[in-house]
Amino acid sequence: MTRLNKKFLSVIMSISLISATVTGCGKANTETAGGGDVQSDAALELPTAETKDEAEAASLEVTSEAEENTQESETGDTSGHPMDSSVMTPWINSTIIGMVTEDVNADLKDDFYLNVNHDWLMNAKLRPGYPTELPLLDAADIVKDRCLDMLTDTSLTGEDAEKIQNYYELWLDWEGRNETGIDPILPYAQKVRNISSLDEMSKLLVSEENFTWGVSLARVGLSLNRENSTLYEVQISPTELSLQDSAEYKELTENGKRTQKANKETAYYMLGRVGLSETEIDKVLQDMYDFEAKLAEYEKSVLEKSDPAYVTASVNPVTMKDIKTLSPNYPLAEYMENYGWSKSKLINLGEPEWLTGLNELYTEENLEGIKAYILFHSIGAYISIIDEEAYREYQRISNEASGTTENMPDTELAYSDTRGRFSNCFGRIYKEKYLTEEMKQEITKLCQDAIDAYDEMFDSVDWLSEETRKEAKNKLHKMKINAVYPDKWEDESIYVVKSKEEGGTFLQALLDYDAALRKDYLSRLNTTIDRDIWLVDMLETNAFYNPLDNSINIIPGFFCDASYRSDMSLEEKYGALGSVIGHEISHAFDTSGAQFDAEGNLNNWWTDEDYAAFKERANKLVAYYDKVVAFDDGTAYKGQLVQTEAIADMAGLKCMLMMASKIDGFDYDKFFRANAYMWARVGTVEYMEAAVLSDNHPLHYLRANVTMAQFDEFVDCYDLKEGDGMYMAPEDRIAVW
Ligand SMILES: [Zn+2]
Repeated sequence: MTRLNKKFLSVIMSISLISATVTGCGKANTETAGGGDVQSDAALELPTAETKDEAEAASLEVTSEAEENTQESETGDTSGHPMDSSVMTPWINSTIIGMVTEDVNADLKDDFYLNVNHDWLMNAKLRPGYPTELPLLDAADIVKDRCLDMLTDTSLTGEDAEKIQNYYELWLDWEGRNETGIDPILPYAQKVRNISSLDEMSKLLVSEENFTWGVSLARVGLSLNRENSTLYEVQISPTELSLQDSAEYKELTENGKRTQKANKETAYYMLGRVGLSETEIDKVLQDMYDFEAKLAEYEKSVLEKSDPAYVTASVNPVTMKDIKTLSPNYPLAEYMENYGWSKSKLINLGEPEWLTGLNELYTEENLEGIKAYILFHSIGAYISIIDEEAYREYQRISNEASGTTENMPDTELAYSDTRGRFSNCFGRIYKEKYLTEEMKQEITKLCQDAIDAYDEMFDSVDWLSEETRKEAKNKLHKMKINAVYPDKWEDESIYVVKSKEEGGTFLQALLDYDAALRKDYLSRLNTTIDRDIWLVDMLETNAFYNPLDNSINIIPGFFCDASYRSDMSLEEKYGALGSVIGHEISHAFDTSGAQFDAEGNLNNWWTDEDYAAFKERANKLVAYYDKVVAFDDGTAYKGQLVQTEAIADMAGLKCMLMMASKIDGFDYDKFFRANAYMWARVGTVEYMEAAVLSDNHPLHYLRANVTMAQFDEFVDCYDLKEGDGMYMAPEDRIAVW
């Protein structure tokens, strides 16, 4: 069972979010699928009921950063983590929960974020099941409460309500789930264990049985063609590693150690359930890590994938014939033929070196490692799917890994999983009940105003040639504004959930879902995408830029007191939602997005000179972040990872400041405070460390402080002088735009 998640968005674009539970512009986990990813941003990656294993196991999925919210739930307390803040630079990491106490405060001129949010940071409590807390979570709560109503409102009728209510009921049906238990997966587990030759392994990997119950060593999924992004294509990419990032196999981080521990406990529990002894499980784990370590040599790391050059490097069109030539040992071609992928005229191989490596490693000699990989990744993922005992164990393990101390309520987990699969069903009902045409018009106008401000911004920068400026403006004015709700929806009648009353079970619902998803994906091969249908889950607490159709997506899941209310003052609207809109627009022109043209196709429209000037400015920002230290172990940031998001934050604020400059009596203090408050956040150390390794957004105290320090309006508003912590001399500033 592939346990797929049907967020097409993610399938197609791979959102950018944070990983491991965290997240920033999306949800957790950064699996940057290269340039085509949707950039999400708002910065939130909220925990969901989905497990990392689910996402990992999804062999169809092209990866979404957004989705792999690894650990789901968590909350945590940090007592017991006395931090040495003296090594943190340039400000203390006030997003670590417990760091801010009554006596820890800063002058507004020295640490604006800490000063503005002091009381909030000091008093914030983690919600049950969450490793992080932020005012923006109120947006997720608003959506959650409304969706929980939909899930239990028996007066709702129609296909959408029926599907989500049926699925939700089956998820919560512990009695039924316990009755199903682990039995259905035992034959598959036994089959893997019995394999004694590579030939048998190959036969299993290309079989329907494996498509239903297992994972394979390559991920094949649906995506959009980078050179003509109206066309679907099949994307082949490396499979997940249990430590999530290939860099972990060279140098294990603290986060990697936590993941390894969680993997071990998952294996002890689940492989024990299918009959392995402790000694056998130890051997599986060892064999798997040994094999993954060899495979990791050929896979790009999270950091490498954040290199703007990865966008083009990961575009490698291949034919089925090429695949047979490149991978004569590993049966990728046969897998694709049997599954149905091979009928696609367009196939892309993300990392050719990886396939070469996999093919070389696919030998009789490595058979035990390969078996261990399949066993762990397939069976381990069922921990959150089978019965209640397994689920509680899964909760315990993931809570520990993320520093969370309290379980998320089952109803919330069930809701989260339901929405993950049927987001459009919720979206359609939500639109009818809670959204208005006025709201859509207001947000559309704010987006249009921001686009117009960018036009002026491009005129004001002196390092762009006329030629590039013209192209930039062309892309800007062709940008599609997806605000609040779509006018056209996907036909999803293929997805059916048999209710408990009709004899449905949770496991069967998942199997049916996966089967429908496969049919759905295969039916799209060799066709074009309908761009009027949105790819995002509009109820997600986030905002996105999609380079593949040059659209900004400003969705209602992001709206709450801290981000947008129709009765907010103009200054607050600009400082909060407005700056996020400006941020999204910037992704069209950042080091990754700039490689796509106005139509969403990979196509360089920069002159070499201008792109070099742009890169030089971006490098200054990278160098700045390389010196930032957010934890008391002195480990520095990796500037490359956060460059596009940091650039976007600054451009977003600048765009709003340009709009502000035209308004008499604009209250800048109100504006900057609204921005700093929107980014208020605390979380466990575990969560924050995972974020720094895999989220492409800077931690929130940096998002606020570093961004504001770039602007004269900020300096003037608070009368900053050299020596103030928030003062950055004009020659030291790092804003690209
Ligand atoms: Zn972003």
